[in-house]
Amino acid sequence: MRVGIVRDSIYLQHITDDFHPESPRRLESIYAMLANLNQVDLVYVPARPATPEEICLVHDQAYFQVVSDTKGETRRRLDPDTVTSPLSYDAACTAAGGVLELIDALLAGRIDNGFALVRPPGHHAESGRAMGFCIFNNIAIAARYAQKQQGIKRILIVDFDLHHGNGTQHSFYDDPSVLYISTHQYPFYPGTGWYDEVGEKDGKGYTINIPLSGGMGDTDYTYVFREIILPVSRLFRPEMVLVSAGFDIHRSDPLGGMAVTERGFAAMTRLLLDIAESECGGKVLFVLEGGYDTEGLTNSVKTTILELRNPPVHVNFAKNDNSGVAVTQVVARVKEVLKPCWGRV
Ligand SMILES: [Zn+2]
Repeated sequence: MRVGIVRDSIYLQHITDDFHPESPRRLESIYAMLANLNQVDLVYVPARPATPEEICLVHDQAYFQVVSDTKGETRRRLDPDTVTSPLSYDAACTAAGGVLELIDALLAGRIDNGFALVRPPGHHAESGRAMGFCIFNNIAIAARYAQKQQGIKRILIVDFDLHHGNGTQHSFYDDPSVLYISTHQYPFYPGTGWYDEVGEKDGKGYTINIPLSGGMGDTDYTYVFREIILPVSRLFRPEMVLVSAGFDIHRSDPLGGMAVTERGFAAMTRLLLDIAESECGGKVLFVLEGGYDTEGLTNSVKTTILELRNPPVHVNFAKNDNSGVAVTQVVARVKEVLKPCWGRV
């Protein structure tokens, strides 16, 4: 499989505070790993800055102006956790634009799937404000772009970052054309993502939140994927799958309390590939969100890329793991919440 990769030195020019977990070191380490990887079937897709019109598919004009005004400024604090440096605006535009280029490459058949290795991350960014290390909502902009420019109708966004993707949820809250499913630690930053946040108006049922207590590991996550994400995706029939890939659920992550290992990320990737294979010809793109233990992040991204490169194989969905009581209770409750819209899954 040809795996499209987006990487760009501009992403290293978004400089955060000293000791800030979302630092350029994250991508420096990933890019060094990439250079040492067997390059067979890796297709480097050049990034470009997203245009103001593209960014404003999700964000409002006034907020876009606030961010563009930071260009060249030494430092601006957009949110308690989110600061800019002189080139942060360029990095943020190119983070969004990198994902758009990956979408074009995917739909033109130049790649089979892909991974946008970008920063700043995006899933907390709201239409009108930066939040939680995020400036522009890269994945939400990409979904809107795929719909408006490429005529894709139904898009599934799976967000397995440690944190709830409040910005992505709000971008599509009343919209049944984008199914947003998030697993996240709860209660935790940003405080949203409870079971009863299911969407509104026509979008009711098209936001699915799976709030998890800390300590969940590989078998818990694969159980959730198999029991909820897989069956609902089959009913939704997405034409494209986008993944907010946050590696802060890694067991070594300093911010999170989850216990996922590289094996777990491989299994989740395989399950997402399986959904994409059966529903939309394998069209799946991963977009980097969090992940703050440099070694755990780098190894997990590597594992994910190696899985994406493998030829499709059907996953064995036999229920042969020993999922804990905590996760089975969460899954049972989510299934109750899903019933009005999705029936029994
Ligand atoms: Zn996160």
